Amino acid sequence: MNLEDIKSVKELLSTPQKIVIVPHKNPDGDAIGSTLALWHYLKNMGQDATVISPNDSPKFLKWMSGTDEILNFEVQNSQAKKLLQEATLIFTLDFNHLGRVGQMQSFLEDATATFIMIDHHQEPSDYALVTYSDVTMSSTCQMVYNFIDFLGDTDKITPEMANCIYTGIMTDTGSFKFSSTTSTTHRIVAELIDKGANNTYIHNVVYDTNSPSRLHLLGCALKNMVILEEYGTAYITLSQEELDTFKYQKGDTEGFVNYGLTLDGIRFAVIFIENKEEGIIKISFRSEGNFSVNEFARAYFQGGGHHNAAGGKSDVSLKETAEYFVSLLPQHKNDIINY
Ligand code: 5GP
Ligand code: MN
Repeated sequence: MNLEDIKSVKELLSTPQKIVIVPHKNPDGDAIGSTLALWHYLKNMGQDATVISPNDSPKFLKWMSGTDEILNFEVQNSQAKKLLQEATLIFTLDFNHLGRVGQMQSFLEDATATFIMIDHHQEPSDYALVTYSDVTMSSTCQMVYNFIDFLGDTDKITPEMANCIYTGIMTDTGSFKFSSTTSTTHRIVAELIDKGANNTYIHNVVYDTNSPSRLHLLGCALKNMVILEEYGTAYITLSQEELDTFKYQKGDTEGFVNYGLTLDGIRFAVIFIENKEEGIIKISFRSEGNFSVNEFARAYFQGGGHHNAAGGKSDVSLKETAEYFVSLLPQHKNDIINY
């Protein structure tokens, strides 16, 4: 954000606004953490603010302060539409093109509000008055911390906000291990602990609340893993039938894709998850090194994301999707294995 952006934001927030804050569909720790942290900040300054999520969030995030106040667009639909219509200011967090909010897209496009984007994904669309976009950032949560800092308000970060921001930084950095984790990230995290973030509790509540059925689903996923050593690639498939067998709950497959990368010599890991209700295969891509899964997801699977972590989808069957994926590997082999 440049000085002019900061001035615009200060000016906007100096008068009462009707604010809506929106995370992306299937929100993760960074999306929920950043929206709730910003929500607390705006509410504490006396603004009228509501978080509207395109759909539900996973159970392992539902402990965060403010969770119960989030409107789910799929459930509280008419209330959410009304708020979007009446909004004067809309923050979009942790995504950068309006196709990432599912059914909410047309309502955001029709909204008359001023938009502010805070996001760290590649290639932002041009829909906001203020676009705070930085692909070098570990997480949108780190950017929300910066945003509050730009406004000179880090002393207004409460323990609740610190917990939310800490969560998003932790989940988006794979617990402070991905290459996006800088010394600044650690300094901010240290600051958050000083401000009351309960780091041990957060690790525990996010990562150590497995259900037996989730562990069994993980067992199934690992059994299904196909390892293509020649291409430095490992992929997992999960059919709807398998998800049903292991009583799949939202969020249960979080992190499964990363197991492929723990194999020696594997630089590209993928998971294909069938979603019969939406008629799609949802895909997560992860890489190590130079191979850009953002470009790969954009080119072949209607998706995108970051250099080393991206997502996408496919409209053909699970089997056809996997076959198509494997057919693409020879032309990318060198990029993948030349770490
Ligand atoms: P995940 O695989 O954890 O769902 O997502 C990894 C990264 O890719 C996240 O930053 C996420 O926002 C992004 N991503 C996931 N799915 C999609 C998608 O369908 N389209 C785009 N553009 N990005 C996605
Ligand atoms: Mn993020």
